[in-house]
Amino acid sequence: DTVYLNGEFMDADQARISPMDRGFLFADGIYEVIPVYNGVPFRLEEHLRRLARSLREVRLDDPLDGAGWRRLCEELVARNGGGHLSLYLQITRGVATRRDHAFPDPPVPPTVFMNTSPLPVPAADQPARTAGVAAVTLDDIRWDRCDIKSVSLLANLLLRQRAVDAGAAEAILIRDGQVTEGAASNLFLVRDGEIRTPPLSHHLLGGITRDLVIELCREHGLPVVECPLTAAELADADEIWLSSSTKDVLPVTTLDGRPVGDGRPGATWKILANHYIRFKRHLCGL
Ligand code: PLP
Repeated sequence: DTVYLNGEFMDADQARISPMDRGFLFADGIYEVIPVYNGVPFRLEEHLRRLARSLREVRLDDPLDGAGWRRLCEELVARNGGGHLSLYLQITRGVATRRDHAFPDPPVPPTVFMNTSPLPVPAADQPARTAGVAAVTLDDIRWDRCDIKSVSLLANLLLRQRAVDAGAAEAILIRDGQVTEGAASNLFLVRDGEIRTPPLSHHLLGGITRDLVIELCREHGLPVVECPLTAAELADADEIWLSSSTKDVLPVTTLDGRPVGDGRPGATWKILANHYIRFKRHLCGL
């Protein structure tokens, strides 16, 4: 595997960073995960826009412009043989001489790291098919800026692990009685034929897949609304879906041990998932 670190491409086992890196000491950094199909980064502009926003929100100077990031992404993908990959990108506030919560003054160069890992992609000619997954609801114990794609993910990890301990694939998070999102995914539910998802706020990440799902619903005449959702509405939903770049759109068939709808992936999910697959196939030759 070839990785990128601070201006150089190298073998993964050659990459080194200092323990004084603020990413290591404080999780002081941000990241992106970009799916790559047939060597082509999917929705790259949207991911780069979110990256630039995350950097701005944590007051990190963007080390590159859009064209620079695009070139780096393309080169790393090419060096790893193209195909289907998950492209990871992380930027931290760099290596300081001493451990101090305040930003280094004068500033130090950021640490920039990128790597790729294999991305499993379902067979091209198959319609969307899955048995669905189990999810549990948990109190959203994260901070107040979940809109930033920060590497400070300890709360997300603890929540996901609690879900796994309960035999579930994902934790669906509830803050003050309102559904926010999954521990690493956005959430949609279907009720009376209407597709609903919580509106963007500081309490959830603006998912690239979330945007695409909304876009596809509108394009294909599926009624979709962004509106606050209560835990009670979630428990009563006909369908629940999770969305993320690596999971696409995944139906939740069991919530807190009880079946969602009839306990099988719903009819609306099937329609949307097939539009989703067709869209990707058209764009990336899948
Ligand atoms: N919400 C959280 C907390 C996430 O970590 C992620 C992605 O991993 C998402 C939502 C989905 O975002 P995207 O569709 O851009 O992958």
